Amino acid sequence: MPKPEKLEFQTEVSQLLKLMINSVYSEKEVFVRELVSNASDACDKLRYLSNTKEKLIKDDPNFKIQIAIDKKNSLISISDNGVGMNKKDLVSNLGTIARSGTAHFLKELSESKTKDLSLIGQFGVGFYSAFMVASQTKVITRKAGENKLWIWTSDGESSFTIEETEDSSILASNRGTTIELTLTKESKEYLDKDRIQNIIRRYSDHISIPIYISDVTEKKDETLEPINSASAIWTRSKNKISEEQYKEFYNHIGQMFDDPWMTSHYKAEGKIEYTVLNFIPSTKPFDLYDPARENRLKLYVKRVFITDNCPELIPPYLRFLRGIIDSEDLPLNISREMLQNNPVVTKIRSSLVKRTISDLKKKLAKDRVSYEKFWKNFGPVLKEGIYEDFERKDSILEISLFKNSKSSKLITLNEYIESMGRKQKDIYFMTGDNYENIINNPSLEGYKSRDINVLILDDPVDSFWTSSTPVYLEKSFKSVTRGADGLEKIDGDKKDIKENKSAEPLINLLKEKLKDKVKDVRISSRLTDSAVCLVSDEGAMDPQLEKILQQHNQLNQGLSQKVMEINPNHKLIKKLSKMSKDKNKITEVENISILLYEQSKILDGEKPSDPIEFSKKLIDTIYSTVEN
Ligand code: ADP
Repeated sequence: MPKPEKLEFQTEVSQLLKLMINSVYSEKEVFVRELVSNASDACDKLRYLSNTKEKLIKDDPNFKIQIAIDKKNSLISISDNGVGMNKKDLVSNLGTIARSGTAHFLKELSESKTKDLSLIGQFGVGFYSAFMVASQTKVITRKAGENKLWIWTSDGESSFTIEETEDSSILASNRGTTIELTLTKESKEYLDKDRIQNIIRRYSDHISIPIYISDVTEKKDETLEPINSASAIWTRSKNKISEEQYKEFYNHIGQMFDDPWMTSHYKAEGKIEYTVLNFIPSTKPFDLYDPARENRLKLYVKRVFITDNCPELIPPYLRFLRGIIDSEDLPLNISREMLQNNPVVTKIRSSLVKRTISDLKKKLAKDRVSYEKFWKNFGPVLKEGIYEDFERKDSILEISLFKNSKSSKLITLNEYIESMGRKQKDIYFMTGDNYENIINNPSLEGYKSRDINVLILDDPVDSFWTSSTPVYLEKSFKSVTRGADGLEKIDGDKKDIKENKSAEPLINLLKEKLKDKVKDVRISSRLTDSAVCLVSDEGAMDPQLEKILQQHNQLNQGLSQKVMEINPNHKLIKKLSKMSKDKNKITEVENISILLYEQSKILDGEKPSDPIEFSKKLIDTIYSTVEN
C-alpha cells in the first residue's frame, strides 16, 4: 500500500481554517447542518446519475444518512450512501483549490463585527465548519461505481493527507462518504444524542433523505425511525408548514442565511403540472453581480433532483430567486441537452416569470415599505428585464421604483404620470453614475424652477433600458440632457428675445473658439442659476451609456461631442456678451470660454479635456481679477 500523500492547503483555505479552529463563535452546531446538507446533496447527485445508470445503486437502493456518536473515543461521524469522491475529487473539492466563496467569506468576516460564522454555507465552503469543533477530521469515501477507497485526513493546520485503504469495512455501503470528527475538549457537548437530534430537527428537518442516529456506546439502542420528516417539504400542504420550516428549507436550498423576504409556494395544475417553492432573499447574495448571471433554482422531476444548472428555467434578471421547481411532466432521465428548447421547460419559465412579477406587484400595492427594501437589493437586477424581455417590459416598468428630483421618496412611473402638469407631455429623466452629481447638474435647473419632476437614474442598467425604451403608457421618455429641452412648449414662447439677440456675438465667438470641442452653442431654457451646461445632441447615444461602453472598450468611436447651452439671463453671460463686442476684450473672453467649457465637464462628472490648459487659464483669470 503506498504511503499517505501529504498536500498543502491553498493559502486562502488555510486562512479560513485558522479562523475556524480559533473561533470563539458560540453557535458551532451549524457544522451538523453543513455536513448533513453535503450528505444530502451527495445522495441527490447519485440518485440523478442512477436514472441512466441504474446499477450504481443496485446493491443499496435506499438512500440514507447515518449519524453515529462514539463517546468513548470522542467521535461523531456523518455517513451517506451518496455519490462519494475519488482521489481527484478529494484534492479539488477539499483544500487545494479555493472556491470563489472562500475569499468572499474571508472578506465578509474581516469586515463584519458580529463574525457570524453560520454564514459559511452561503459561500460554498460549509465543509470547513467541521474544524470549529474537531481536532482531527477524516473523510472516508468511495465514489459510486469505482473500486478505490480513500481516506482524507487533516488537523486543519497547513496540510492534509490522502491515502488509499483496502479495508472496505470502514464504509457501511459500497459507496458514499463518512465524515468522522474527533471532537475537541470544548466540543464534547456534540456527543449527546439528544442534542444532535435537536439540531437536526432545527436545521435539517426538511432534508428529504432519512437521517438516522445511533450511539455506538449504548449497545442495541439504534433508533430505527428517522429523526427528520424525510419528505420533500414542497409536497406538504401549505398549512402544515411553519414559517420556521420554510426558513430552514430556504437556508438549505438557497445557501442563504437570512430570512426570506418573500415565499411563494404553489402547485400549477392544468396541461402541465409542477410545484414551485421559491423565495426572494432579504439580503443581497454575494454573487448577485457575477458576470455569469446564473440562476439558483433547482429543477426536480417527481421529487428527484435533476439539476441546479438550468439557465432555461428563469431569465437572468430574476436570478435572485432561490428555490425549487418540481415537474410532473419531464422524463426522469432528462439530460442537460434535452432541457434546452424543451417545450415543458419553456412553459414553466413563462408562467414562473409571470407569477413572480404579479407577486411583486401585489407586494408593492400591499406593503410599500417592505417593497422598497426589496427594490434596494434587487431593483437594478430586475430592471435588466426592461431591455431583455420585450414581452414583459411594461409590467417590469410598472413595478419599478425611481429616485426623482422633487422628493426623497421613491416613486412609480404611474405616480410620476399622475403628478404631471397639464402641459407636460413627456417623462423626463436624467442618467448618471451618482445621485448627488445628477441632482446638482445645471441641466436640471429649468425643470426644478418650473416644478417639473425628473427621474434620477443612477444605476448603470438605466442607461441601457432608457436607450431602448421610447414610451410607457403612451408617454415618451425624454432625457433632460439630450436634444432641445422642450421647455418652451411648456412655458409658451416666453423667451426674452432681446437677451437672446444680444448674446449672438458671444455665441458666434464660442462656436469658433470651441469648434473642436462642442457640436454647437445655443441659448438654453433649462438653465436658471448656472451660466452654461453641456447636453447631448438629439440623436446621440445616452452619455452615461457611452461612458460605460467606453470603460468596457466597446465604443467604436470616441465619445460624441456635446452641445453647449448658455443662459442669456446669467450675469456672467450678459457681461461676456458685452465684452465680446469689444476687440480688446476678445482674448479674455476666449480664455473664459475654455474655462466655462471645462467646468461644465467637471459638473458632468468628467475630467477637464485638457487639465494643463484649464489650470493655466484658471490661474491667468484669477490673476487678472486680483490685479484689477
Ligand atoms: P458546497 O457543499 O457548498 O459545495 P462544501 O465546502 O460544503 O461546499 O463542500 C465542498 C465540496 O466537497 C462539495 O461541493 C462536494 O463536491 C464535496 N463534498 C463535500 N461533502 C461531500 C459528501 N458527503 N459526499 C460527496 N461529496 C462531498
